[in-house]
Amino acid sequence: MRIDLRSDTITKPTKGMLQSMMNAVVGDDVYKEDPSVNELEAYLANLFGKETALFFPTGSMANQAAIKLHTQPGEQLIADHYAHVFNYEGGGVSFNSGVSCKLIEGNRGMITADQVEAAINPPDFYHSPLTALVCVENTTNKGGGACYDIETLKSIKDVCERHGLGFHLDGARLWNAMIAKDQSPKDFGKLFDTISVCLSKGLGAPMGSVLIGDTELMKNAIRVRKVLGGGMRQVGFMAAAGLYGVKHQWDRLAEDHKRAQEIGEVLSTLPFVLHVEPIDTNIVIFKIATNEDEFIAKMAEKDIHFYSMGQGKLRLVTHHDYSERMHQYFLEVLQSMD
Ligand SMILES: *Cc1c(COP(=O)(O)O)cnc(C)c1O
Repeated sequence: MRIDLRSDTITKPTKGMLQSMMNAVVGDDVYKEDPSVNELEAYLANLFGKETALFFPTGSMANQAAIKLHTQPGEQLIADHYAHVFNYEGGGVSFNSGVSCKLIEGNRGMITADQVEAAINPPDFYHSPLTALVCVENTTNKGGGACYDIETLKSIKDVCERHGLGFHLDGARLWNAMIAKDQSPKDFGKLFDTISVCLSKGLGAPMGSVLIGDTELMKNAIRVRKVLGGGMRQVGFMAAAGLYGVKHQWDRLAEDHKRAQEIGEVLSTLPFVLHVEPIDTNIVIFKIATNEDEFIAKMAEKDIHFYSMGQGKLRLVTHHDYSERMHQYFLEVLQSMD
């Protein structure tokens, strides 16, 4: 039995999802003639209380397009030093938008209004880049699935409004945050100018992300997507998978969170585990006293797979394809390690 805890991106379509893909009515989405894509976009815009939404092949492209919509070359965005847009999008912020990042050392990838305020360059000081945008991530990836309180986000939003800055949410795993914190999409729609969400992680679709925002800001999004090479044809098969994920596989993220908690509880009893980071959602980060590559190799012998983050830190992610049977077996294996 292969147990793959490297990421929730490894999830495969369920029977119901495959059925919805098979039944999808499609058309050429470059002409905006794909009914399934149009349906997904309308559904998500409405869910978040925004005017419009646009389907993207990847979350990176959706974030990169958002950054382009909010900025001009030479300007600067503010983000936590763990941010996906800075660390894991291939330098796209500078490549695509000619923008630099002012990085904040937040707590597990989360930043505060005071930190944002302090990071803004005074607009009349023409020596420094003009601050244009604040990007936050929820849940945080490198921060171990941490998620924000709405109050914290509200106070960052106030700072953005006072200084005329755009406010973008990298919500790749926002679905997990909303389940963990009992928040609603409209809570986020009210706060952010643009929101990207992934369909291909916990929700289990094979691909796809959606960028959500209001018409005025989003009017160039389709052009930016085209420039980035993201105009797709009969992609309604994938949009149907994503819509199925939102409608039928969102609630069950609570199971992933529960299993992550249980893994954390067992880990913290093991003598060679130095530290388990707080577990808010489906990501578990822990530190071990022994060599992490050896530990990972030992686990791989038992066909259990997860990642090293370097410096003794290990990461595992629970997801739809990690079943209760796998979970019980994994906990047993962990308890037998010395
Ligand atoms: C996964 C992820 C993305 C998007 O990644 P893609 O692989 O490009 O779809 C963006 N932000 C965060 C925080 C993520 O975890």
